[in-house]
Amino acid sequence: MIRVVVSGAAGRMGQAVCEAVDGAGDMELAAKADPTLGVELADVLGAADVVVDFTTPDAALPNLRACLGAGVHAVAGTTGFDLEALREAAVSAGAGGNCFVAPNFAIGAVLLMEVSQTIARHMPECEIVELHHDRKLDAPSGTAKRTAELIDAAGGNVHEPIHSIRLPGLVAHQEVIFGGEGQTLSIRHDSIDRRSFMPGVLLAVRKAASLPDRFTVGLEKLL
Ligand code: NAP
Repeated sequence: MIRVVVSGAAGRMGQAVCEAVDGAGDMELAAKADPTLGVELADVLGAADVVVDFTTPDAALPNLRACLGAGVHAVAGTTGFDLEALREAAVSAGAGGNCFVAPNFAIGAVLLMEVSQTIARHMPECEIVELHHDRKLDAPSGTAKRTAELIDAAGGNVHEPIHSIRLPGLVAHQEVIFGGEGQTLSIRHDSIDRRSFMPGVLLAVRKAASLPDRFTVGLEKLL
């Protein structure tokens, strides 16, 4: 059994993760950490093989540093914090935990990023529109920033700015529109339920201990 501690357990994503871990035959929900529940991550780190963090841009980095310091593997979905600082912390940490981060755990969003790179090689000019619920703290989304990085690396040209729409009723959505001579090509992914992220989260929990590197970004690395 993999002992999982969920950090941000009272949040929208945290609640969905707790339910998914509870339903996984090879995992035990060891503890829930969240200020709303009056439980600090530091107090329950000892119960974890893997911590799953879906918190806030301010909380994620200290939480993940604490995991690294305690030699506990971490799976992070929180967006809007300094990934480079986390990479440095993970690489310089002593023996112990691996850190896996994915800006999007939904397979459809990962495929959108993959396909975008192929399209960008033939139709480089593009714009990204990301749409999320109105309680999201960061903009542009982590998924949009990662998509832009991957398209740029594939030779594309993502026009600035990335367009961020925040409205009630939305969950997590993204469109990439490519434009060429006399034609456009649009690809879109919609997460209409937070359950869309759960197979990816559980996969990362299962693979966290055996990752070849201390710091890994992107669900595509696990597929
Ligand atoms: P949310 O509903 O606001 O939940 C965040 C929870 O974290 C809240 O209950 C918050 O408590 C708690 N928290 C704050 N500081 C904490 C700390 N130091 N330790 C533990 N818990 C703490 O947000 P959400 O919609 O679930 O989203 C969470 C994050 O996941 C966001 O960054 C979002 O962008 C990201 N996300 C990622 C994916 C992906 O696939 N990677 C998908 C969806 C969302 P308080 O309310 O008391 O502050």
